[in-house]
Amino acid sequence: MEVTVDDAAASIGPLVEPERLLIDGSWVPARSGKTFPVEDPGTGGVVAHVPDADAADVDAAVVAARRAFEDERWTGLSGAQRGVVLWRAADLIDAHAEELARLESMDVGMPVRQARAMAAEAANQFRYFAGLADKIHGRSVEIGPAESRLQGITLRDPVGVAAMIVSWNAPLYGVSMKLAPALAAGCTCVVKPSEDAPLTVLAIGRLLLQAGVPEGVVNVVTGHGPVGAAMAAHPGVDKLSFTGSTQVGKLIVQAAAGNLKKLSLELGGKSPVIVLPDADLSQVIPGVGLGIFMNTGQICTSGTRLFAHRDIFDEVVQGVAEYGQSLKIGYGADPDVDLGPLASQRQLDRVTEFVEGGLKDGARLVGGGSRIGDEGYFFQPTVLADVNPSMRVVREEIFGPVLSAMPFTEVGEAVAAANDTEYGLAGSVWTRDVAHAHNIARKLRAGRIGINVHRAGGVQMPVGGYKQSGWGRENGPEAIEEYLETKSVVTLLDR
Ligand code: NAD
Repeated sequence: MEVTVDDAAASIGPLVEPERLLIDGSWVPARSGKTFPVEDPGTGGVVAHVPDADAADVDAAVVAARRAFEDERWTGLSGAQRGVVLWRAADLIDAHAEELARLESMDVGMPVRQARAMAAEAANQFRYFAGLADKIHGRSVEIGPAESRLQGITLRDPVGVAAMIVSWNAPLYGVSMKLAPALAAGCTCVVKPSEDAPLTVLAIGRLLLQAGVPEGVVNVVTGHGPVGAAMAAHPGVDKLSFTGSTQVGKLIVQAAAGNLKKLSLELGGKSPVIVLPDADLSQVIPGVGLGIFMNTGQICTSGTRLFAHRDIFDEVVQGVAEYGQSLKIGYGADPDVDLGPLASQRQLDRVTEFVEGGLKDGARLVGGGSRIGDEGYFFQPTVLADVNPSMRVVREEIFGPVLSAMPFTEVGEAVAAANDTEYGLAGSVWTRDVAHAHNIARKLRAGRIGINVHRAGGVQMPVGGYKQSGWGRENGPEAIEEYLETKSVVTLLDR
């Protein structure tokens, strides 16, 4: 592996105001004046400092968002007018795509090629919800027998101040999935990026201002867990949309109880991949490989548990391990790189501990298994076989490039094993018999199923979790519902 660091890539560029938060349309330091370093996971070097906010900054941001909501500087626009602004935001994201991709790559470690695709997806989010902004309608409802002379209508209102907490694995895309529908609905927003990858979220704040989102409508507060906890507990927040671990999701549910704020939770996963004996293995092997290794396994929907029919098990497992070894691993800014580093020392320690634990529990290492080099947080694509459902590597989310493979004989057995998890985010089924695949897809208890593809579907397709993978949906018209209230208005037409 070759790690080359372009010196130019070490500067954060003009989209991010160094050491500043976005509150009420102004770039300001944290009230405490504290900052914390942002690391490039490809080198372990510090690339920027951002404000280390606390509850006082959260309060200032919520007050600004509340004022912006109450004086209707955003809600008072028509849906079509909001749509125009959001479309302009998409154009600005496209115009700055290269810069955003470079920032995302430096902050997350993501290969720049993939970061470009994320920038395009972020623009898609704003265009899609720009198009829905003037299509938020209530209904007219017939009530009771004709002689009651009652006419009902429903009105749709924005839920109010929406707080958003974003994870580090794809923040540019992740924040756009929340901001675009919330703004289309007419909400005002307070966003907290992850402490591990705040840069592109700050950049999106700047581009939204530039697009014409009024001051105070989008506020960005950088900081650690306590900032998120302060948002979750804040009585001035009406709605909170969270992406992160199931463990922190449960803390948010407790903290949100104070004012019973509405919650959307996009949480962890342990997604199954079922390969039937008739599947086209030339399609299965790279597909399953990408499903687990893409973004170095740091995607919530990664296909982490492989169930392959006994007749083809060895071929699939060996093939996926070799596919992993064929991927070019290196510094994200290198245009030919397939996989970058893990995002932090914490992730590296976590993945290492899981793999070592799995091997100690009796798993067989088919490929990978170790850190690469000693600069940055690179880890080999790893395949473990001879695992069983009681092992931690099979039960718990690792969030790294580690596949646990198990053979099956009967399809029913594979479906039961696939559903034997507290998670329910995604899954995939691989076979030439598409009708059979549809039957299996219906039986899987998860929010997104791929047939002969592990992860596919754009902004049009809703995503979200069954079971402990979350509450609510992002993408599609469902996403806008998460930011709307429904009001019934009933008129007595005649006495
Ligand atoms: P995390 O739960 O550790 O942190 C997520 C965010 O919550 C961060 O911004 C963090 O600062 C904040 N936070 C920490 N403690 C908090 C508290 N007590 N109250 C409020 N906020 C708090 O998760 P992570 O390590 O950033 O991300 C990885 C996790 O995210 C994985 O479990 C992954 O599956 C999940 N994820 C889910 C989706 C999805 O769509 N379902 C997408 C991406 C990532």
